Amino acid sequence: VMMLGVLTGCGGNNEKNAGDTEEAAAESKGVLVGVSMPTKSLQRWNQDGENMEKSLKALGYDVELQYAENKVDMQVSQIENMITKGAEVLVVASIDGSALSTVLESAQEDGIKIIAYDRLLTNTPAVDYYATFDNQNVGTIQGKYIETALGLAEGKGPFNIELFTGPLDDNNVNYFFGGAMEVLQPYIDNGQLVVKSGQTTMEQAATTNWDEQTAQARMDNIITANYTDATIDAVLCSNDSVSLGVQSALKAAGYGTEEKPMPVVTGQDANVANVKAIVAGDQSMSVFKDTRALAEKIVEMVDAVVNGTEPPVNDTETYDNGVKVVPSYLLEPVAVDSENYKELLIDSGYYTEEEVSK
Ligand code: BGC
Repeated sequence: VMMLGVLTGCGGNNEKNAGDTEEAAAESKGVLVGVSMPTKSLQRWNQDGENMEKSLKALGYDVELQYAENKVDMQVSQIENMITKGAEVLVVASIDGSALSTVLESAQEDGIKIIAYDRLLTNTPAVDYYATFDNQNVGTIQGKYIETALGLAEGKGPFNIELFTGPLDDNNVNYFFGGAMEVLQPYIDNGQLVVKSGQTTMEQAATTNWDEQTAQARMDNIITANYTDATIDAVLCSNDSVSLGVQSALKAAGYGTEEKPMPVVTGQDANVANVKAIVAGDQSMSVFKDTRALAEKIVEMVDAVVNGTEPPVNDTETYDNGVKVVPSYLLEPVAVDSENYKELLIDSGYYTEEEVSK
């Protein structure tokens, strides 16, 4: 379709995706950019990859886009392959941020520029720039949503809450969980929030690979062990895949009826399935991170490192990767719920009404 657009000179679809600056591929400038994504199993990474590929090609870059099925060794060999093919810039959304040092350090020795996409690359000097959403704020938004929905600041409670986050090898999890717990911990300490499972540490709340079924199984166990005679009022879920798993377990336990409504359930990414769940009243909120804006920012960074100009950076303090503080660009995440999803997601052209209706 893209090629056809070039051949016929048809640019009539330019408004279709508000994040796109140009639509058609420009003439190649002979610079290869390797884009390494973690997995196709979650909606957002497909969008991220597509957006990046389209925008980079529009500027005349050649693009090698790969997905690694959440397997670290596969991601390493895909990156090695990009280096062999002569990539001059690598854009990496890591599976395990600390597991790529060897391959990235050899890339850096070859003069290849390395940009961390969404997730920080840790314990290595081989990362030049980082663009992401303000991950701490993602957690804060989720925590505050629960605080407001339950009336915690007005002293209401006690309420029962359970905690679900992502895998410990994703550096973002420290911020998602940390940001949320900064809001919620004082209420756990003063008894307004009770975690009946007792599973309150990040390690206990972790979900390997952000896997939906893993979250569902853990929630099943928590319900069976702690809630036969008690009701769950809220579940902190760090993202949408985890949230879907939690929702399935809750429904299997009889939640989602008039007598037993769904608890306050959070999420992140505003995936299609979750926006549907928000519309249906099963999920309370998600955190919208406009992947178009992130891809655009990364493309600006790529273009700058290739042209030897200054890449956009608005944070030089937060993201210490253990070896260096990585100059970063942080985009702002926003809460989305049934009140504002139309304005945020439909009016902005991110989704069509049909996509998020049943
Ligand atoms: C991303 C989230 C995503 C999660 C699972 C995180 O690193 O920031 O947007 O939901 O990974 O893929």
